[in-house]
Amino acid sequence: MEILHISAECYPVAKAGGLGDVVGALPKYQNRLGHVAKVVMPMYRTKFLYENEWELVHEGDTYLGSNWFRYAVIKEKTNTLGFDLYLIDINGLLDREKVYGYNDDTERFLSFQIAFIDWLKSWQYQPDVVHCHDHHTGLIPFMMKYCFGNQVLSTIRTMVTIHNAQYQGWMEWSKKDLIPWFDDWKSGLLDWQGRINPLASAIKCADQVTTVSPGYMEELRFAANGLESLFEYEKGKCTGILNGIDTDIWNPETDPMLTENFNIETVQEGKEINKMDICKDFNLDPSLPLFIFIGRLVGEKAAEILPQVVQDSLGMHQGKINFIILGSGDTALEASLINLEAGLGDYFRCYIGYNEGLAHRLYAGADFLLMPSRVEPCGLNQMYALRYGTVPMVRNTGGLRDTVIDISDLSNAGFGLIFNEPTAWDLNNSINRAIGWYYDEPGILQLARERMMAIDNSWEKSAALYIQIYI
Ligand code: ADP
Repeated sequence: MEILHISAECYPVAKAGGLGDVVGALPKYQNRLGHVAKVVMPMYRTKFLYENEWELVHEGDTYLGSNWFRYAVIKEKTNTLGFDLYLIDINGLLDREKVYGYNDDTERFLSFQIAFIDWLKSWQYQPDVVHCHDHHTGLIPFMMKYCFGNQVLSTIRTMVTIHNAQYQGWMEWSKKDLIPWFDDWKSGLLDWQGRINPLASAIKCADQVTTVSPGYMEELRFAANGLESLFEYEKGKCTGILNGIDTDIWNPETDPMLTENFNIETVQEGKEINKMDICKDFNLDPSLPLFIFIGRLVGEKAAEILPQVVQDSLGMHQGKINFIILGSGDTALEASLINLEAGLGDYFRCYIGYNEGLAHRLYAGADFLLMPSRVEPCGLNQMYALRYGTVPMVRNTGGLRDTVIDISDLSNAGFGLIFNEPTAWDLNNSINRAIGWYYDEPGILQLARERMMAIDNSWEKSAALYIQIYI
């Protein structure tokens, strides 16, 4: 089967979160199953672009509203990622360092989608399915099916995977003319509550809709940032498929970013060495339990409770606990974490920013990972933590519920700590449980590590499930 993925992110070309990890891995695993999966994304100006070799495969021109623009498509020459990778270059719009966060993001991603479709029409290669990811590519199913100039593409199947339904790409109707010409009778397929809503349009127009865990699929019918009734109405074509992890990259036995590689047999010593190294860098005492948080500092991740959690825990377990937070996001929260570090630096450190290598080292060196998320469509952090022998402490929601079993589970399969509310109170209670294990019952910690490192969360299974759904 021929599959064309289209996405705003793809690791290691450009990544802002889990979307990048998924699009960097799923196509590779689909190819290993004997299919042909390719990826198309914007040509940002990232390191990967300059470090690899490219060939020009297409040049074209088209319109964003009444603005004529030129675009070019380049292809990575060596298949270094395990799939064909195409980048679309649009000068003035996509040639930036960051993926998101610009005032003209609507125009940037709209022109990317329009250029993609224009190229696809002229391309001899016709995929069996165009697989869109999140709202940045959400108008493609509509445009392929209903824009007058695109009739030639209307029989190609389309699929959308929702990595996060909080972000929907809303546009005012005043921007309607930026979308290529279509019959006004079809406007309802773009609209949600009086605005053009690319994510809602994708759910209405794509042949299949998936999201990144069965638990999140269920939740979307009750909590989907305004789209609940749409998910309820379209449930017949909606499926939850759990993300996998790319075990070529996330493997503690071979990960080149770690101080010491380890496996299930050597986990204790391996983690100890990684922890010593991390603690040395952050000037922390490695004999204390190390709790980490990695992620976007935003409300979805309940990151605003972290300062309170750190203060309460350090108050209750004086001199017996360490924290490191790696993340960026809300600027007020960033400032409050930096302030906190100034006062509590012997036990609490933060790194504000994005640092892929540090994330790997933290998963390897930490004892516990905190994930109090309010919304977690799948969550990859906890899966990386499992693989690196770090106990996940997660709120009972979305993909976290699908991937973590509390240690108290009577089936004897438990390994993590689960709590119910995204509050400092609930998380602190879990931290108390964790501290109890660490100091009084180290056997439980070792057992949990062995259980979780034996779990197979690799992409093989999920990649095959996607294929079944395309058909
Ligand atoms: P989301 O996509 O909602 O941000 P996920 O758990 O699905 O959350 O994926 C987060 C990914 O981004 C993981 O690979 C995680 O390690 C990585 N990540 C998040 N923040 C940072 C950061 N500040 N530095 C390095 N990696 C980060």
